[in-house]
Amino acid sequence: MDSLEAALHKHFGWRDFRAGQRPVVEAVLEGRDALAVLPTGGGKSLCYQLPALVRQGLVVVISPLVALMEDQVLQLQRRGIAAACLHAGLDAVRRQQAFAHLRDETLRLLYLAPERLQGEATQRMLENHAESGHLVALAVDEAHCISAWGHDFRPDYRRLGLIRRLCPGVPMLALSATAAPRVRADIIRLLALRSPLVQVSSARRDNLHYAMQRRPRDPMPQVLEALTLSQGASLIYARTRRSVERWAERLQEQNVDATPYHAGLDPETRQLALTRFLEQKRPVLVATVAFGMGVDRGDVRLVLHLDLPATPEGYLQESGRAGRDGLPAHCLVLFSPGDRTSLGWAMQASARKKGSNDEQRRLDLAQQQLRRMEAVAEGEICREQALLLAVGELVDPCGRCDRCCGPVQRRDWSTQAETLLSHLHDLDGTDMRRLGEHLALKEPGRGDRWTWLARRLVQEELISESNDGVQRLYLRESGRRFLDAPWPLDYAA
Ligand code: ADP
Ligand code: ZN
Repeated sequence: MDSLEAALHKHFGWRDFRAGQRPVVEAVLEGRDALAVLPTGGGKSLCYQLPALVRQGLVVVISPLVALMEDQVLQLQRRGIAAACLHAGLDAVRRQQAFAHLRDETLRLLYLAPERLQGEATQRMLENHAESGHLVALAVDEAHCISAWGHDFRPDYRRLGLIRRLCPGVPMLALSATAAPRVRADIIRLLALRSPLVQVSSARRDNLHYAMQRRPRDPMPQVLEALTLSQGASLIYARTRRSVERWAERLQEQNVDATPYHAGLDPETRQLALTRFLEQKRPVLVATVAFGMGVDRGDVRLVLHLDLPATPEGYLQESGRAGRDGLPAHCLVLFSPGDRTSLGWAMQASARKKGSNDEQRRLDLAQQQLRRMEAVAEGEICREQALLLAVGELVDPCGRCDRCCGPVQRRDWSTQAETLLSHLHDLDGTDMRRLGEHLALKEPGRGDRWTWLARRLVQEELISESNDGVQRLYLRESGRRFLDAPWPLDYAA
């Protein structure tokens, strides 16, 4: 079947498939369902675009983000491929254009927001195209959004089982960048995929250099150093809109041409920020993490997080935006021991507002993920290994990250641990902050260090924590044993 390579070259100008692409394209062309897990930048979109072109039919793509759809439609149109999208924000002219192309069967790719599937007109359109044999495949992009175990659950995705019923004979292709085994199982079950080809490519990225460092009170020197090192397009992620604005301003004061980007900006300003990011030589974009799913700039040299990311899956996806051209790129996380607490509180507040049982379950999951991410950051093993382990893939150490390369400075913390644990012995059930303050009285300015150590001892299972809004700490049986006869605790710090 080298006609597939010919088609790849004809429509996209590329000579070879990337790892995992060909089997997926073949499956779709054979009419078989498939689940493709390819890393960010691995070329997922080609897996559904090429079948539409080879068959000269229509592929319908369900996509969770309007920005992502618009971006893909633009890129396809630039290649002379007929593509359109349907979402709530579309004006009447473009909607009618899309339907006209659908009617005369010239459209190759149609991107749909999941909620569009509730509409009668869309449902009938799908049924008709399926019956006429014109519909080549249904693709569900970012398919992990269907799973509550995933890092980006979207209730709208739960209804996607419906399209299987609308077009029973059409092959379905689910795609995701990171899907742990549990999430994969959810995707297959909830989309009712029939003996699908499951193509999982390693999430390893041989050109990314991961580093995670404790964030000092003012991390400006670290940020400037990272920008100087990267010498290229850089993405800086901050957690809130306010800190995005503030960081962009502060960087401008340092003569860095930084542009803020978040969902609160008006559309024009946002468009301008994006254009600058795509067109300038060494742009620096400061953004909230929601940004960037669809940004196709291959030569991003630095992705810097100013806070602890919320989940390992999410972080892999965000950091994966670096170095999609295959050349070396850096991914730096600056985190502080307080990040998990403040992120946890933000999650709790939003769960309380929504108030359902489901919300509570999701909150528990989110906090569990946050703890996993913190364990990667505080941990002593290879960053890539730890991140991939968290999403269910076992690999060797990468040989490039700060843990693999840097000398890890270790020291024995057992004396401090003894002090902390005996405090807890007297004040069982005290909260993290109060314990930190209490101990810091002895060592002014070192409160942070004590909360850090408390977290390590939670990971070490010498103390346990409850999370009822305040983080209460309790001495565990093993903690008591430690107090009776301490043993060495070697930590990097
Ligand atoms: P993903 O959605 O998996 O993150 P994309 O589909 O956006 O990745 O593809 C990432 C980049 O790789 C894009 O710039 C795309 O044009 C390019 N690409 C995809 N497949 C190939 C290929 N076979 N050869 C060369 N470049 C490719
Ligand atoms: Zn490593």
